[in-house]
Amino acid sequence: MSIQTNLLNIKATLPKQVTLVAVSKTKPVSDLMEAYEAGQRIFGENKIQEMTEKWEQMPKDIQWHMIGHVQTNKVKFMAPFVSLIHGVDSLKLLQEINKQAKKNNRTIDCLLQIYIAEEETKFGLDEEELTSLLTSNEFQELKNIQIVGLMGMATFTANKDQIKKEFLHLKSIFDTNKNLKSEICNLNTLSMGMSGDYQLAIECGSTMVRIGSSIFGGR
Ligand SMILES: *Cc1c(COP(=O)(O)O)cnc(C)c1O
Repeated sequence: MSIQTNLLNIKATLPKQVTLVAVSKTKPVSDLMEAYEAGQRIFGENKIQEMTEKWEQMPKDIQWHMIGHVQTNKVKFMAPFVSLIHGVDSLKLLQEINKQAKKNNRTIDCLLQIYIAEEETKFGLDEEELTSLLTSNEFQELKNIQIVGLMGMATFTANKDQIKKEFLHLKSIFDTNKNLKSEICNLNTLSMGMSGDYQLAIECGSTMVRIGSSIFGGR
């Protein structure tokens, strides 16, 4: 099936409150343009250089989401244009994003990545680290970032019960911390769910799904 058909079929099944991030990593600009022409305006990439090259070549009404793990020394390259950074997992990284956002005279929206999987290879904060980050003085000094929600990745497994348990765990952390509102923090976005598990993620309360291979094909 074509990229446009895949995209429109998926969009037709998403509830209104769920935002679709089309994950286009490793795919050529021509593939992204097919999705763009079908109306897609949010694209997710996991490498800063690749995202920057695509941003330079593509229409400027696209919102670019960084969904990969971010190294502090690379933040400056995306700071002029990135629309949402999904994988923020430390104060140090937030401080660098804040610094680069300020240089560019803007505020950058971020999601904090929460560790919910059983695999040790996945990144993210645990619940305690999240609370201590959100309540720290250093955090409240940042003025050029906005924490708009949380992101998580479930274990790579065929066991739906386990994935569901992990998604519900993230949803409960999200609900608990929603009340911690401040000038720079207002959790309204819950980014969870990919091609293999997004329906389940939505059942568990996801408001943003990151879908790659079901739209663009395998990588
Ligand atoms: C690649 C990737 C996705 C999309 O994965 P698919 O299985 O192709 O839908 C979603 N989230 C993150 C963080 C990714 O790296």
